[in-house]
Amino acid sequence: MVLSSVAGGGKSTLIQMIRAKHPDLAFSVSCTTRAPRPGDKEGVTYFFLSKEEFESGIDKGEFLEWAKVHDNYYGTPAIFVNQCMSAGRSVIMDLDVQGAAQVKQKLGKEAITIFILPPNEEEWEKRLRGRGTDSEESILKRIKNGKEELAHKDEFDHLIVNDKLDHALSRLEEILF
Ligand code: ADP
Ligand code: 5GP
Repeated sequence: MVLSSVAGGGKSTLIQMIRAKHPDLAFSVSCTTRAPRPGDKEGVTYFFLSKEEFESGIDKGEFLEWAKVHDNYYGTPAIFVNQCMSAGRSVIMDLDVQGAAQVKQKLGKEAITIFILPPNEEEWEKRLRGRGTDSEESILKRIKNGKEELAHKDEFDHLIVNDKLDHALSRLEEILF
């Protein structure tokens, strides 16, 4: 199960909520070269790697997918997803649009891809700023990149408008279970 959205669309919030309700759902912890932010935990939110470590992982074919997002590398360790799939356990991934397309291409119908949309641009910016985790420069970059990502929303199996959180969560449950 792949969730994507523009930054600030609500993926992390929805993933947290659905995991709290469905503890059997595995979460794929990605590798990244970005610096940890407050609240990040090694091995829980991400595995934090140097650029050299990440590139060595690419060379060894250790990623199910990887992409450069906002100037940093992000990738999904293949081993964990493979283990979940062999055990018949559903696994949820939080990926950008490039990663979602790669997973869909590799796994076909075994992958369900979902794009989360903010209800409108004004609310989107408000949430992004309200999160308080990014500098103004980074927020502006995320909005610019987000507009490019929005252009890919129709490539996803499902779209969810994240207006009210409880509605978005119910819709996500309907799709996944
Ligand atoms: P993403 O992981 O897609 O970047 P987040 O889950 O961090 O987005 O959400 C961005 C911000 O918007 C967070 O502060 C979150 O609490 C808030 N948020 C998410 N969904 C809603 C919603 N439906 N209504 C109001 N605020 C929301
Ligand atoms: P953030 O730095 O805000 O945690 O994440 C930035 C972006 O990277 C988000 O769009 C998120 O979905 C995406 N992302 C996180 N992990 C991965 C991954 O393993 N692969 C890809 N392709 N994107 C990822």
